[in-house]
Amino acid sequence: MPNDTDDTSKQSVPPRSALHVMKGVEGGHEGLPGYATDRPGRPRGKRTLSTEEYVKGILDGDRTLLARAITLVESNAPAHQEQAQEVLQAVMPHTGHSIRVGITGVPGAGKSTLIETLGTSLTERGHKLAVMAVDPTSSLSGGSILGDKTRMEGLARDTRAFIRPSPSGGALGGVARKTRETMLLFEAAGYDVLFVETVGVGQNEITVRSMVDYFLLVLIAGAGDELQGIKKGVIELADTIVINKADGDNIRAARAARAEYEQALHYLRPPADGRACRVLTASAQTGDGIKDLWNDIEAFREEMSTSGAMQKRRREQSRQWLHSMLDERLRDLFYRQPAIRQSLPDIEKQVMEGRLPVTAAAWKLLETFQHGEDAAEET
Ligand code: GDP
Repeated sequence: MPNDTDDTSKQSVPPRSALHVMKGVEGGHEGLPGYATDRPGRPRGKRTLSTEEYVKGILDGDRTLLARAITLVESNAPAHQEQAQEVLQAVMPHTGHSIRVGITGVPGAGKSTLIETLGTSLTERGHKLAVMAVDPTSSLSGGSILGDKTRMEGLARDTRAFIRPSPSGGALGGVARKTRETMLLFEAAGYDVLFVETVGVGQNEITVRSMVDYFLLVLIAGAGDELQGIKKGVIELADTIVINKADGDNIRAARAARAEYEQALHYLRPPADGRACRVLTASAQTGDGIKDLWNDIEAFREEMSTSGAMQKRRREQSRQWLHSMLDERLRDLFYRQPAIRQSLPDIEKQVMEGRLPVTAAAWKLLETFQHGEDAAEET
């Protein structure tokens, strides 16, 4: 499995320039417009690449350069983030040509087995497949998804597939940004099928839903209440539900579960811009139903593209992404500002003790922030 380990900084300070127009590369990045050769004694012997080198490497489909570009995108160091944006901007015209598939389900539902089976059949037919994960807990759990090397062994050796584990560390927002940008790099490198896997916890599904064209929920037939354990909201996000492990003695139960979900879905509104959710059965282990699943993905793409719903969905996703980036950056700038850090505890205390109305407190803090920004601008 290609796993580039560039020595990206662990620094988590966002670029101070978040609200400013990007200055370009001059002086901002080491070694541009050419590139720096190895500094003597540099441990890993990797030289800094120029933006042009990254771009050319990505467009040529060079796996090593692609991996390094992903590492650049995943870095929190301001200089890396700046260069990553230049790379992304340059490859932008070459993006958008893939089908973006999100895959969710509880651990054990068979997501990785399904990705392996479906993915292998796709690469055999000439597709280039990228598999990513969104798992903000991965830094705590040591990589619950995709980090485990025994998963997707076949795809990991497949030269037409590229597996990239979840970017680690940080909140979901940061992981989501990195994954979205990584998806663009994959597209520019000619990957025409993108899978983004996530475990069914908390906000993850909603986040992954907001970055893909087609959202697949992997379920298994269980004893008792079929709808148990799965939040109703998640079902509403799905474009298709697949009841996995429909093999052996489990076939009947899987078919029954399928009927139950179809029934349950009947009472849910179809998504405004999409197609009513479908329910399929499959076995990731035997491969039964996997072809039908791919047909469903292709039919979905065809239908949604023809109606314009796909383009609309992507445009709306970009707009929402812009706003969530702004929210995140503004909040960050606000709470990191020295003047705010200094006055916040006291204002909080006044609010808690009922000495200052909340609205007045918020206005006061925003005013402090504004002054702090003005002062920073003047210096
Ligand atoms: P994930 O946690 O959702 O990625 O699930 P895995 O793909 O790791 O699968 C969990 C377990 O279920 C493994 O032991 C798999 O071998 C098994 N499994 C996955 N798909 C199937 C299937 O279609 N049929 C059967 N019988 N077992 C399966």
